[in-house]
Amino acid sequence: MKFDLETLARVNIKNLKPYSSARQEFTGAGEIFLDANENSFGSPALAENFNRYPDPLQIQIKRKLAAQFDLSLDEIFVGNGSDEAIDLLLRVFCRPAVDEIIITPPTYGMYEVSANINDVAVKRVSLTENFELDEKKVLASIAENTKMVFLCSPNNPTGNSLERRAILKIAEQFHGILIVDEAYIHFAREKSLVAEIKNYPNLVVLQTFSKAWGMAGLRVGLALANAPIVAYLNKVKAPYNISEIAQKTLLNSLEKGAAVKEVVFKIISEREKLRQNLIRFSFVLNIYPSDANFLLVKTTDANGIYRFLVELGIVVRNRSNVELCEGCLRITVGTPHENSILLTALETYQ
Ligand SMILES: *Cc1c(COP(=O)(O)O)cnc(C)c1O
Repeated sequence: MKFDLETLARVNIKNLKPYSSARQEFTGAGEIFLDANENSFGSPALAENFNRYPDPLQIQIKRKLAAQFDLSLDEIFVGNGSDEAIDLLLRVFCRPAVDEIIITPPTYGMYEVSANINDVAVKRVSLTENFELDEKKVLASIAENTKMVFLCSPNNPTGNSLERRAILKIAEQFHGILIVDEAYIHFAREKSLVAEIKNYPNLVVLQTFSKAWGMAGLRVGLALANAPIVAYLNKVKAPYNISEIAQKTLLNSLEKGAAVKEVVFKIISEREKLRQNLIRFSFVLNIYPSDANFLLVKTTDANGIYRFLVELGIVVRNRSNVELCEGCLRITVGTPHENSILLTALETYQ
């Protein structure tokens, strides 16, 4: 069977009549807004007014993003973090207790958690020992009820990029939805797959402002895909999913791509310094190549080192219980000051 979005989407979603908000029903140039039960007097408890509902479709933001990505507005979904897009994709395409998704562990935990919340089964097709994508194994694991495959590149927690050719082979041969999570793409040597969207109607690329852009607290992420998929996401999202404060802040930041690139270079250079310093410790067995803003470090005693650092107020991520990551800590690259405190602490670890 070929890719057919209309048979992939859940019937109740296909037939859904979405909520139509006040600001969506009105188009034109109003001056007096008495349509949304807002407080017309303003925000009595605040210095700045936030009394109006925000743009449900974030059009100003999408105009700027469309130019930057060379996409059209209707190929961009803006979410409350890319985590919102993950959940919405599951809700649009996967029938609870019937359909399944494929993930490739070790990978980002939210795919599985979101699937569990939605009562969608998870089939696990592990990466190879070198954390590479086994596209043949993924393709061979696809069943009739496999609606989506989630890939993460660069991958969290392993840090490596998956091979482009292998990803695109799945895009080509899988007739469900292929999601490629590019949360760390700004740190990668590999190019983004966004430009491939026009070649693959089933491809969804996730990006986020939480990592390179340093806006994790703002909660903004993107799903980039062909217009019919984006339309489904917009249909099921909460009407006002991006707050006014987030929209304004983001809008004013989008011109600052050059500053972001500069910080990315700094983080990459700190990452490689950190690698050189960490590899000298006798308890460090291996540090995997990274295309991201963290290092996956294989140690002789992940639990011990983790607890030792926590005692000193230094928190890294213990990934030693994750398959293929035995003994591993995931360490985010900090500022030079933070990294040096970490290294000094590790000097005293026995
Ligand atoms: C951090 C991260 C995200 C980001 O999620 P947001 O909800 O946008 O903050 C998405 N995917 C992966 C793999 C991540 O590591």
